[in-house]
Amino acid sequence: MTDMAILDDAGNRRAFADRFWSKVERASGADCWQWLGSTNGVGYGKLWIKSNGQNIFVQAHRLAWMLCRGSIPDGLCVLHHCDNPGCCNPAHLFVDTLKGNTKDMMDKGRNRNPKGEENGQAKLTWSQVCLIRLGCFVGGTQGAMAKRYGVSSGRISEIVHGKIWRETPDQQQFLAAMYASLEQEGPLK
Ligand SMILES: [Zn+2]
Repeated sequence: MTDMAILDDAGNRRAFADRFWSKVERASGADCWQWLGSTNGVGYGKLWIKSNGQNIFVQAHRLAWMLCRGSIPDGLCVLHHCDNPGCCNPAHLFVDTLKGNTKDMMDKGRNRNPKGEENGQAKLTWSQVCLIRLGCFVGGTQGAMAKRYGVSSGRISEIVHGKIWRETPDQQQFLAAMYASLEQEGPLK
Protein backbone atom coordinates (compact mmCIF):
# COMPACT_ATOMS: atom_id res chain seq x y z
CA MET A 1 0.00 0.00 0.00
CA THR A 2 1.36 3.42 -0.90
CA ASP A 3 1.70 6.31 1.53
CA MET A 4 -1.09 8.19 -0.23
CA ALA A 5 -3.40 5.19 -0.03
CA ILE A 6 -2.76 5.11 3.70
CA LEU A 7 -3.63 8.79 3.89
CA ASP A 8 -6.77 8.47 1.78
CA ASP A 9 -7.82 5.52 3.89
CA ALA A 10 -7.40 7.46 7.13
CA GLY A 11 -10.99 8.70 6.87
CA ASN A 12 -12.28 12.07 5.76
CA ARG A 13 -9.19 13.82 4.41
CA ARG A 14 -10.09 17.32 5.65
CA ALA A 15 -11.07 16.11 9.14
CA PHE A 16 -7.92 14.06 9.29
CA ALA A 17 -5.77 17.04 8.28
CA ASP A 18 -7.47 19.26 10.89
CA ARG A 19 -6.84 16.66 13.57
CA PHE A 20 -3.21 16.30 12.51
CA TRP A 21 -2.46 20.04 12.45
CA SER A 22 -4.14 20.51 15.86
CA LYS A 23 -1.16 18.59 17.24
CA VAL A 24 1.36 20.90 15.59
CA GLU A 25 2.41 24.27 16.98
CA ARG A 26 2.42 26.31 13.79
CA ALA A 27 4.80 29.17 14.43
CA SER A 28 4.96 32.21 12.20
CA GLY A 29 7.62 33.01 9.67
CA ALA A 30 10.45 30.65 9.13
CA ASP A 31 10.39 29.01 12.56
CA CYS A 32 10.01 25.29 13.18
CA TRP A 33 6.50 23.90 13.56
CA GLN A 34 6.86 21.63 16.55
CA TRP A 35 4.95 18.35 16.82
CA LEU A 36 3.11 18.36 20.18
CA GLY A 37 2.09 14.70 20.21
CA SER A 38 4.19 11.75 21.27
CA THR A 39 7.63 11.19 19.83
CA ASN A 40 9.91 8.22 19.47
CA GLY A 41 13.16 7.87 21.37
CA VAL A 42 15.04 10.20 19.03
CA GLY A 43 12.54 13.05 18.74
CA TYR A 44 10.50 12.20 15.63
CA GLY A 45 6.76 12.80 16.00
CA LYS A 46 4.76 9.61 15.71
CA LEU A 47 1.16 8.66 15.51
CA TRP A 48 -1.08 5.74 14.75
CA ILE A 49 -3.70 5.98 12.06
CA LYS A 50 -6.32 3.47 11.06
CA SER A 51 -5.97 2.02 7.59
CA ASN A 52 -8.00 -0.90 6.23
CA GLY A 53 -9.14 -1.60 9.79
CA GLN A 54 -5.55 -1.88 10.99
CA ASN A 55 -3.58 0.54 13.09
CA ILE A 56 -0.56 1.77 11.17
CA PHE A 57 2.36 3.66 12.64
CA VAL A 58 3.45 6.78 10.76
CA GLN A 59 5.93 9.55 11.37
CA ALA A 60 4.48 13.04 11.85
CA HIS A 61 6.87 14.85 9.52
CA ARG A 62 6.16 12.34 6.73
CA LEU A 63 2.43 13.00 7.15
CA ALA A 64 3.09 16.75 7.12
CA TRP A 65 4.86 16.30 3.78
CA MET A 66 2.04 14.18 2.36
CA LEU A 67 -0.65 16.64 3.45
CA CYS A 68 1.18 19.66 2.00
CA ARG A 69 3.21 18.36 -0.90
CA GLY A 70 1.75 15.00 -1.92
CA SER A 71 3.08 11.50 -2.13
CA ILE A 72 6.60 10.45 -1.18
CA PRO A 73 8.23 8.58 -4.06
CA ASP A 74 9.06 5.00 -3.16
CA GLY A 75 12.47 4.63 -1.58
CA LEU A 76 12.81 8.32 -0.70
CA CYS A 77 13.05 9.67 2.83
CA VAL A 78 11.63 12.93 4.16
CA LEU A 79 14.49 14.82 5.79
CA HIS A 80 14.81 18.05 7.75
CA HIS A 81 16.78 21.10 6.57
CA CYS A 82 16.51 22.36 10.15
CA ASP A 83 17.81 19.16 11.82
CA ASN A 84 14.87 19.31 14.24
CA PRO A 85 13.27 15.84 14.08
CA GLY A 86 10.05 17.09 15.69
CA CYS A 87 9.53 19.84 13.09
CA CYS A 88 6.52 19.57 10.74
CA ASN A 89 7.01 22.83 8.81
CA PRO A 90 6.79 21.70 5.18
CA ALA A 91 9.20 24.48 4.22
CA HIS A 92 11.83 22.78 6.37
CA LEU A 93 11.34 19.37 4.78
CA PHE A 94 12.80 17.83 1.67
CA VAL A 95 12.90 14.37 0.15
CA ASP A 96 16.09 12.57 -0.64
CA THR A 97 17.27 9.07 -1.22
CA LEU A 98 19.09 6.92 1.30
CA LYS A 99 21.34 5.95 -1.58
CA GLY A 100 23.20 9.22 -1.09
CA ASN A 101 24.08 7.94 2.37
CA THR A 102 25.03 4.52 1.16
CA LYS A 103 27.20 5.92 -1.61
CA ASP A 104 28.92 8.16 0.89
CA MET A 105 29.54 5.11 3.11
CA MET A 106 30.98 3.11 0.25
CA ASP A 107 33.20 5.99 -0.81
CA LYS A 108 34.61 5.92 2.68
CA GLY A 109 35.22 2.17 2.45
CA ARG A 110 32.95 1.30 5.34
CA ASN A 111 30.78 -1.05 3.32
CA ARG A 112 32.72 -3.31 0.97
CA ASN A 113 29.96 -5.85 0.58
CA PRO A 114 26.86 -3.97 -0.46
CA LYS A 115 23.53 -5.47 0.46
CA GLY A 116 19.95 -4.77 -0.35
CA GLU A 117 19.01 -2.12 -2.87
CA GLU A 118 22.65 -1.45 -3.75
CA ASN A 119 23.38 -4.98 -4.98
CA GLY A 120 21.29 -4.49 -8.11
CA GLN A 121 19.30 -7.72 -7.68
CA ALA A 122 16.85 -6.62 -5.01
CA LYS A 123 13.15 -7.25 -5.49
CA LEU A 124 12.33 -5.14 -2.47
CA THR A 125 13.07 -1.58 -1.45
CA TRP A 126 14.31 -0.37 1.92
CA SER A 127 10.91 1.10 2.71
CA GLN A 128 9.27 -2.28 2.05
CA VAL A 129 11.86 -4.00 4.24
CA CYS A 130 11.03 -1.55 7.05
CA LEU A 131 7.31 -2.24 6.61
CA ILE A 132 7.95 -6.01 6.70
CA ARG A 133 9.95 -5.74 9.92
CA LEU A 134 7.39 -3.44 11.49
CA GLY A 135 4.51 -5.67 10.31
CA CYS A 136 6.07 -8.76 11.87
CA PHE A 137 6.95 -6.79 14.99
CA VAL A 138 3.30 -5.87 15.57
CA GLY A 139 2.14 -9.45 15.06
CA GLY A 140 1.87 -10.02 11.30
CA THR A 141 2.89 -13.50 10.18
CA GLN A 142 5.87 -14.09 7.93
CA GLY A 143 3.57 -15.99 5.55
CA ALA A 144 1.26 -12.99 5.20
CA MET A 145 4.22 -10.69 4.60
CA ALA A 146 5.61 -13.08 1.98
CA LYS A 147 2.31 -13.04 0.12
CA ARG A 148 1.94 -9.27 0.35
CA TYR A 149 5.42 -8.50 -0.97
CA GLY A 150 5.74 -11.40 -3.42
CA VAL A 151 8.81 -13.03 -1.89
CA SER A 152 9.35 -16.37 -0.12
CA SER A 153 8.72 -16.92 3.60
CA GLY A 154 12.39 -17.82 3.90
CA ARG A 155 13.33 -14.39 2.52
CA ILE A 156 10.97 -12.73 5.03
CA SER A 157 12.55 -14.73 7.86
CA GLU A 158 16.03 -13.61 6.76
CA ILE A 159 14.83 -10.00 6.69
CA VAL A 160 13.18 -10.20 10.12
CA HIS A 161 16.28 -11.77 11.65
CA GLY A 162 18.60 -9.26 10.03
CA LYS A 163 20.49 -11.80 7.93
CA ILE A 164 19.89 -9.73 4.82
CA TRP A 165 19.12 -6.03 4.40
CA ARG A 166 21.32 -5.12 7.33
CA GLU A 167 20.96 -1.59 8.57
CA THR A 168 23.87 0.70 9.21
CA PRO A 169 24.61 1.19 12.94
CA ASP A 170 22.80 4.56 12.80
CA GLN A 171 19.69 2.98 11.34
CA GLN A 172 19.81 0.15 13.88
CA GLN A 173 19.94 2.67 16.68
CA PHE A 174 17.00 4.56 15.22
CA LEU A 175 14.91 1.39 14.80
CA ALA A 176 15.73 0.16 18.30
CA ALA A 177 14.56 3.47 19.71
CA MET A 178 11.42 3.36 17.58
CA TYR A 179 10.56 -0.19 18.65
CA ALA A 180 11.21 0.65 22.31
CA SER A 181 8.86 3.61 22.12
CA LEU A 182 6.25 1.44 20.38
CA GLU A 183 6.38 -1.05 23.22
CA GLN A 184 5.87 1.71 25.76
CA GLU A 185 2.55 2.52 24.09
CA GLY A 186 1.07 -0.74 25.31
CA PRO A 187 0.35 -4.20 24.00
CA LEU A 188 0.98 -4.59 20.30
CA LYS A 189 -0.84 -7.85 19.69
ZN1 LIG B 1 12.11 23.10 11.31
